[in-house]
Amino acid sequence: MNRVHIKTYGCQMNERDSEAVAAMLRTRGYRIVANENDCDVLLLNTCSVRDAAEQKAIGKAANVQHRKKHQPNFVLGILGCMAQNRGAQLLDQLPDVDLIIGTQKFHQVPDYLDNLRAARESGAPIPTAIIDIAAEAGSQNTIRDHVEPEANAAPQVSAFVSIQQGCNMDCAFCIVPKTRGDERSRPMDDIVRECQQLAERGIKEITLLGQIVTSYGRKDYAHTGGITPFVQLLERVHAIDGIERIRFTSPHPRGFKQDLIEAYGRLPKLCEYVHLPMQSGSNRILKAMNRPYSRERYKEIVDALRAVRPDMYISTDIIVGFPGETDEDFEQTRQLFEACNYDMAYVFKYSIRSGTPAADMGDQIPDEVKEARNQALLQILQQNSLRRTAALVGQIEEVLVEGPDKTGQKFTGRTRGNRVAIFDAHPRLIGQLVPMRVERGTVSTLYGELVLAGVDAAAEQKIEARI
Ligand code: SAM
Repeated sequence: MNRVHIKTYGCQMNERDSEAVAAMLRTRGYRIVANENDCDVLLLNTCSVRDAAEQKAIGKAANVQHRKKHQPNFVLGILGCMAQNRGAQLLDQLPDVDLIIGTQKFHQVPDYLDNLRAARESGAPIPTAIIDIAAEAGSQNTIRDHVEPEANAAPQVSAFVSIQQGCNMDCAFCIVPKTRGDERSRPMDDIVRECQQLAERGIKEITLLGQIVTSYGRKDYAHTGGITPFVQLLERVHAIDGIERIRFTSPHPRGFKQDLIEAYGRLPKLCEYVHLPMQSGSNRILKAMNRPYSRERYKEIVDALRAVRPDMYISTDIIVGFPGETDEDFEQTRQLFEACNYDMAYVFKYSIRSGTPAADMGDQIPDEVKEARNQALLQILQQNSLRRTAALVGQIEEVLVEGPDKTGQKFTGRTRGNRVAIFDAHPRLIGQLVPMRVERGTVSTLYGELVLAGVDAAAEQKIEARI
């Protein structure tokens, strides 16, 4: 009765929350299983950013709740953003759900499961569902546990670290302030300690996570010598022995001050890859979205980043079809999108989120117009990415070897620019930074050959030193 499967929808923050829940459950004696058909407890960790994400999770829950007919002790839980957004209302559509747990209560999941199982075993009456979506002071500090890999699994080489929860930006389209609450940062010492522990476990790459990471600690720490708390945190993680690569997501263009731009020139572990959400290239739409920057300022940041690191890889988020977006507004977005020469982009069709200011703006854009704008940007993206891939062929890129690829025939890893790489390797290279000569590539994946002269010897020396 203790086998748990967690299915995660949405962003990397949700993935990290699920991992923290899994780690807490394991400490309590639950077993985390990879196959959902083998579980006694199914937890859906959900996303609310677009309606499609909510509908997907609701569809899934509706399907699996029938399992209770032949598996009477089966437990179905809905966690995270949609639980927070819809609360008890979910029971109208999903009467057999047992747990509805919001974004500030992930750490309570083990207690609630223990209570539910104890009540079932004792035959005591069980409430229809346990619902907890209250706010909790300090809950940002509870996303800190990591799952240790199983004994014979490939070692983990990269990890997400949550530095902040919530968001105060109030973008007109966005439901996150409702689902995640106000912006709250974790203490810097706790984050650094967590990164040190991960480095001791062999983790080489850390991705710092938050809704607006560039705002990290702004209410809790002073700027020192013009350095923001976020850059202070980057410096401290950079100083940890064993950590070789640092990434972060998501920043806000507003947070890209000189100190962060210069950090790319002086912190070599900071990978030359930035995810910089643009949302729109029209100043009129940016204003309506309540995004506090202009297209000119956005382009200035991109240029400044490329001045410090000419090989910088940049990705972005764009919303097409925001209420009132005219052909002219979209043309501004298209031009800026082209000028920024993105390596990767997430292009979203605007989705009405009830309770957000944009939901009441009227002048909604027809779906076919959104689709055409979406396709126009994706086409540019494909050309850009292929151009970059072509320029990489024959070059040497550093890859962090993660483990076998999906086919089990080759190995996979990522370049510093966050491109997936596929190559032949030996398991002892997992966790090593190895040069790879790029032989060919697609929009997102590079295929190549490791350049092993000197690397094998260095890897062996390190292994011997560990023994
Ligand atoms: N914190 C980041 C920021 O605002 O810069 C992004 C976080 S958000 C969870 C991820 C992306 O989803 C956003 O950047 C935006 O492009 C997209 N998004 C948010 N609300 C949306 C909506 N109502 N419709 C379509 N896309 C949306």
